[in-house]
Amino acid sequence: MKIVMLGAPGAGKGTQADRIAEKYAIPHISTGDIFRANLKAGTELGMKAKEYMDKGLLVPDSLTVDLLMDRIAKDDCRDGYVLDGFPRTIPQAEALKSALEKKGEKLDYAIDVDVPDENIIGRMSGRRACVKCGATYHVVYAAPAKEGICDKCGSELILRDDDKPETVKKRLAVYHEQTQPLIDFYKAEGILKTVDGTQNLEKVFADIIDILGA
Ligand code: ADP
Ligand code: AMP
Repeated sequence: MKIVMLGAPGAGKGTQADRIAEKYAIPHISTGDIFRANLKAGTELGMKAKEYMDKGLLVPDSLTVDLLMDRIAKDDCRDGYVLDGFPRTIPQAEALKSALEKKGEKLDYAIDVDVPDENIIGRMSGRRACVKCGATYHVVYAAPAKEGICDKCGSELILRDDDKPETVKKRLAVYHEQTQPLIDFYKAEGILKTVDGTQNLEKVFADIIDILGA
């Protein structure tokens, strides 16, 4: 099963992609996570990506598309994957479509996690990410057992630099301009499904399972 998660920054794409990946035993691939891992490892790609991420801008397609194509060519993607944060532009979606077509493959679902802008700032300012394993929490809606500490690996939880309100506003504007058109793109492809992302985590996931099948 090949799935793309759509939605504004902070809509809950990563949270739901994690659950989908576990239930259907497919990898959860987040381009944001790949950039952050590169930054942590001090690679040139990581340094370049940071320049854009810190400003709330998209990393150029020229740095993003090949990275994603290499990732989905790996063995663990044989039975599918759930993409979180890719595609984010029409050219990225076109590149993915033509790469899949060359292999006689196609995406099965594009799931739009729909959350209005007014809910997003609260989601993002409460998001906490593990410095080591990248696991995501929310101080109110998905709190760790011990404040500031990752349940999974025991490392410190931080507020991402790009989750500060000034940057979130920019990211939302960029989302509306460059990423939201993907909703119509996938509607035209006949694979768009929309879930109400303002519901609690469990209910959103239940709606996704209804779409994907148990
Ligand atoms: P995205 O991957 O779309 O940027 P995340 O999955 O990281 O978003 O979610 C953003 C924040 O909102 C996180 O702190 C997460 O714990 C929280 N969150 C995700 N889904 C919900 C939900 N349905 N209700 C409340 N908070 C949520
Ligand atoms: P995310 O972790 O999905 O919220 O992504 C964090 C940041 O990484 C984004 O604000 C972008 O700067 C960058 N990024 C992640 N995925 C992409 C992509 N597909 N295209 C361009 N930039 C991306």
